[in-house]
Parts: sequence; C-alpha cells; structure tokens
Amino acid sequence: MPKQLQLKFSPQEVIDEGWVNARFAREAGIAGDTFQVVWKKKSLDARGRAPFFLITADVYGKGEDVAVENGFLLNNVANAKEVFVIGAGPAGLFCALELIELGWKPVVLERGKGVKERRRDLAVMNREKKVNPESNYCFGEGGAGTYSDGKLYTRSNKRGPVQKVLKCLVDHGAPDSILYDAHPHIGTNKLPQLVEGLRKTIEECGGEVRFNTKVEGFVVANDVIEALKLNGGVTEKVEHVVLATGHSARDVFELLMESGIDIEAKPFAIGVRLEHPQSIIDQIQYKCDVRGDYLPPSSYSLVEQIQGRGVFSFCMCPGGIIAPAATADGEVVVNGWSPSKRNGKFANSGFVVSVDDRDFEGFGKAGELRALRYQQHWEQKAFAATGSLSAPAQRMEDFIQGRVSADLPENSYLPGLVSTNINEVLSPVIHQRIRESLIVLGQKMRSFRSNDAILVGVESRTSSPVRIPRLTDTLQHTRVRNLYPCGEGAGYAGGIMSAALDGMRVAQAVAG
Ligand SMILES: Cc1cc2nc3c(=O)[nH]c(=O)nc-3n(C[C@H](O)[C@H](O)[C@H](O)COP(=O)(O)OP(=O)(O)OC[C@H]3O[C@@H](n4cnc5c(N)ncnc54)[C@H](O)[C@@H]3O)c2cc1C
Repeated sequence: MPKQLQLKFSPQEVIDEGWVNARFAREAGIAGDTFQVVWKKKSLDARGRAPFFLITADVYGKGEDVAVENGFLLNNVANAKEVFVIGAGPAGLFCALELIELGWKPVVLERGKGVKERRRDLAVMNREKKVNPESNYCFGEGGAGTYSDGKLYTRSNKRGPVQKVLKCLVDHGAPDSILYDAHPHIGTNKLPQLVEGLRKTIEECGGEVRFNTKVEGFVVANDVIEALKLNGGVTEKVEHVVLATGHSARDVFELLMESGIDIEAKPFAIGVRLEHPQSIIDQIQYKCDVRGDYLPPSSYSLVEQIQGRGVFSFCMCPGGIIAPAATADGEVVVNGWSPSKRNGKFANSGFVVSVDDRDFEGFGKAGELRALRYQQHWEQKAFAATGSLSAPAQRMEDFIQGRVSADLPENSYLPGLVSTNINEVLSPVIHQRIRESLIVLGQKMRSFRSNDAILVGVESRTSSPVRIPRLTDTLQHTRVRNLYPCGEGAGYAGGIMSAALDGMRVAQAVAG
C-alpha cells in the first residue's frame, strides 16, 4: 500500500520535481532511491502574502506495484454493429471511444473539416472577418473543444470516470499534469493535434469519422429514426443515432422541430467578455506589484447576486485571446482561449447574467425556440452595432459612467473592436446587473474596476438555449426510441469534460 502524504511547497521548489519527490520519500520514511512518487493533486493557495502549492502524492516503496490509471480498452470493431454519432466534438468523440470499448462500431458524421483545413478557415475569419458556416470556432473536427482553452475542470466528478478521460487525453499528447492539477488546462496550441490523435485511434479500431458530412434531415416513422438525410442528397439508413451536435447547431434544432421531435427552451446566460491586462489580475490575486517568476498567470472566479439574478464570471482565460465564435454571417459572438503557457498580455473571462423564461417572452412564435431566438437577437444587435465581425466594446469605467469610450486600449481580439455603448447590445436586465456587479467588485478589488479593462459583446453561447428531452434511465429521447440526445447541445453538459462524460454514458446506454 502506498503512503499518501500532503506537503506544502514554495512556487520555486515545485519547479524541481525530483527534489519534491525526494522530499516526499524522506517524509514517508523511505531511504535511498528505491521509491516512486505519484502526484494525485496539486493546488495553489494564493490567499496569503506568500502563495504556496499543496501537493498530495502516493509514495511507493521498493517492490510495491504502482497503481496505473487506465484509458480506454480498444477493440477492433470494423465488423461490429454500427451506431451513428452526429458531431465530432468532445461528446461525439468520447461516445465513439466508449462504443469501441463496448464492441460497437461508431460512424461519426461531422459537418466541418479536419483540424488542419479548419485552421485555415479560422485565419480567414480573423483576418478577413468572413464566417464559414460549416467550419469555424464551433464546427469541425473536435467541435468547439478544439480551439477552446482546454480547461478540463469539472464539478461533475460524481457523474463519471474523469480520470479515464484525462488518461486518454494524456495518451494522446496532453501533459501528465492534467492528471493531478486542481484546475487542469491543455491550451489551444496543443489541442488540435490531440484531437486528430483521438480520431486516428477511432479509425485504427475500425470506426469511421466522415468530415464534410452534414445531417440535413431525419426520416422518422412510428417514433423511430429510420434514416438520416445527408448533404449531397445521400440517405443513410440507421438503427441507433447519437445526436451530439453542440449548442451552436441552430439548424439542427430547427430540423428536430420540423421532424416533430420534441425539444424545449432552456435557460442560459448572456453578457460580455471582460478583458484586463494580465498584470492587473496578478496584482490583485498575488497582492504584489509584479508576479513572481515562479507563479503562474493568475485567474479569478467571481459570483454576485444582483437584483435576484446570478452574475458570474465564466471560462476565465489567463494570458488569453478573445475569439470570434459566430457560426453565421450577421452575428457577433465572443468567447476566449489561451495557449498552454498562458503567457499572453491579457486576461479575459465571460461575465454573464442568467436568463430564463421571463426574458424570452415574445421572442418568436415557436415557444421551443424562443430562448434561441432571444440569443440570436442580441448577437445580431452586436453585428448591427459594428457592421462586421468586429465586436462592440467599451472601456469598463466608461461603461459604468454611461459614456461611449473616446478610444479603446490595445486588446487581443483579432477582427478588431468598435467603440460602442454596450447598453445597446444587451437588454437592460443584463447591462444594469453587469454594471452593478462591476461596482461591487470594484469595492472588493480596487484595481479590478479599471479603464484599462474593456467589455466586449456579446458572450451568448454559454450553454445551449435548447434541451432535447431524454429519459433519465435509458437516455433515449422521450419519444423517439433510437435517438440519444447527447452533450452540450442537448442540454446535458457544459464544457469539454462534462460533454465527454455524457458521451460515454450515452454509449453505455446504447450498448444496453
Ligand atoms: C473558444 C471556446 C473556448 C472554450 N473553452 C472551454 C474550456 O476551456 N473548457 C471547457 O470545458 N469548455 C470550453 N468551451 C466549451 C466547450 O468547447 C464545449 O462545452 C464542448 O465542446 C461541447 O462539446 P459537445 O461535443 O457537446 O459539442 P461541440 O463541441 O459543439 O461539438 C458539436 C459538433 O457537432 C457538429 N455538428 C453540428 N451540426 C451538425 C450536423 N448537422 N451534422 C454533422 N455534424 C454537426 C459540429 O460541427 C461540432 O463539431 C469553449 C468553447 C469555445 C467556442
């Protein structure tokens, strides 16, 4: 049995892993160099003046077998029974891997392109402000997860085998540190190759991944999907369908409605992306003038209750970039990512307010799509404010004082910003609460309220505005028996890890 210990280290000490491990062995009473140390958790405590790391590790002595984390058990499924998985995001890919472990053949249909080609479309989007509706920050190999930040933190530990997902990611190129970091993160620069590796594993096992393959219709009879209509006039007969198309596939929600497959409007959150110079956030969090050499770029997680609603930060990206996450012309949507080293000059986060039925009243005739119409309305307003993929923006103090910014500071958003009154691109319910919460936060952390910080609109794709209802025990759609709604788009996940876990659960449900 290993001895589990928790020890405290300075940021400088943690740099030398060998030294840290030797100290663990010493504290465990193991002499010589016949020990093995497996880190289980590493977290940073920056509440005091001198930040420190807490590391929990298992220490093994001579001859003891080290417990190894297992990834997926891979089978050859080339001739096995097929399951059609629509969408190659984290939910679709991990559903496919779990199906392989269970002896089923996944056929993954993805409207977008492979990562290499997709990268070119993103460059066009940033440079020429043109959106390819089939290949963008949300659509293509790896889904919205590929050019994301790759934060893998989830509160859903109880919902499934988080370590199995992490081990699989490590086996495909993620750093070992994600296995023990309290807030694991991969980085946009490393994700594309990793996602490509996951796809190759699926293919090597006999599964299929078809790019540029868009589902454009469902043939439904007697509450069963008999076939999928694909682009190019192709019809594919199906027995089991996993629908993992993400929160941005608006045409899929429309298709479900047209095909008589029940969906429901769902609450989500909307607001802006805040961007500060990273140095301001470091000064606040580390209580210093300049971040120490051995400390990581700092982050924050903020929540306020303002006039009966939650206002909260979301998807914080230290050293990050604000990205254009629109999926169609005529809309502006922002999101954020950071590279693995998080070494950019800026820190951004979504800063959003919860919205629900009260806000959706009057948005569109079709009740089921009213949350989506509300979301779309504000994205189009943001586009109208700038006339292009450039995003509306305002300095923070100017926003609080209600004046349009005379100029905007240097920032990370590549398609460019246009000085705008942010009140024009959000409803009063939202912008009033954002304003109030910034005032409150400025009282708690003085330099957070800064005119060097900007608000960029709109952050609207925080989660799906639609739920595709499913039965709790079998995970089948409540009416269509061979349809398995899955992942974020179906309303059962929020983020990479929870989408991956949901994909695995759905695979188990399909396999019975
Ligand atoms: C810029 C950015 C940064 C993010 N950062 C993080 C982060 O750091 N951490 C985190 O946990 N989450 C992050 N997210 C959110 C995360 O990416 C999503 O929660 C996650 O990808 C959802 O997984 P999914 O598989 O359910 O859906 P998606 O990843 O959205 O995948 C759905 C896939 O379905 C495909 N599809 C859609 N319609 C069709 C169709 N008709 N036919 C065929 N295929 C179709 C799409 O092209 C897409 O590839 C970020 C998102 C963005 C955009």
